[in-house]
Amino acid sequence: MSNDANMVLNQLAGALVGGDVNVVDLTHTLDPDFPVIVLPPEFGQCARFRVEEVSRYDHRGPAWYWRNFSCGEHTGTHFDAPVHWVSGKDLPNATVDAIPAGAFVRQAVVIDCSSECAGNEDFLLTTDHIVAWENEYGSIPAGGWVLMRTDWSKRKGAEYLNMRDDGAHSPGPTAEAVRFLVEQRDIIGFGTETIGTDAGQAAHLSPPYPAHFLLHGAGKYGLQCLANLDQLPATGSVLICPPLKIKHGSGSPLRVLALVPGEGQ
Ligand code: MN
Repeated sequence: MSNDANMVLNQLAGALVGGDVNVVDLTHTLDPDFPVIVLPPEFGQCARFRVEEVSRYDHRGPAWYWRNFSCGEHTGTHFDAPVHWVSGKDLPNATVDAIPAGAFVRQAVVIDCSSECAGNEDFLLTTDHIVAWENEYGSIPAGGWVLMRTDWSKRKGAEYLNMRDDGAHSPGPTAEAVRFLVEQRDIIGFGTETIGTDAGQAAHLSPPYPAHFLLHGAGKYGLQCLANLDQLPATGSVLICPPLKIKHGSGSPLRVLALVPGEGQ
């Protein structure tokens, strides 16, 4: 068995160098201008990314450049741990520092909802939609990520949060769809291009914010503010998404990479 594993790793390393496997970056650049989620004013708020220069080859440090930065655990492209939601608060290994490292390297499938979302900013991914996807691409693998492509990452400025008087308007899954993915497919997590795993109007669903409530209550993970999902195949990619090892962290900004078949395939 170890010879087989050695062969697989050698082939992967060679394929990465040779271009038979490519790496797609699914991450937005951490930037003070990138929007963060905005909650009703009575609640605490997530901080934007901030940066200050410590020195840049000057009197503060003649030969070196470095900066201090700060941000929320849920700023930019980021990972949600089970402890982020009250439904997951008592689960074991529910903080980013305690999640087993193997969870951060898993296969992914992409459900393309971009055409539906182009005509309906409140589009909700249903179980019927997922089953139709499976009829075309095969069953969603247990232990893998499901990524919801909406092309939301291509929106700029205020259109990204899409706030109105009654809150944000952005797509997400129904409670039934999340329950199906968790209970029937045993996914490891659900990823979106939007600011949350839930739709902008998900406070009105039952339970409220069903992706957060059901995923994290079952010990599953979330990824948000993903980019470049249009560069992934529907099936056959491998996601690498380790969050920062923040003690007791509820989540963290991170670099999300996907291994995909390259030109040589
Ligand atoms: Mn989050």
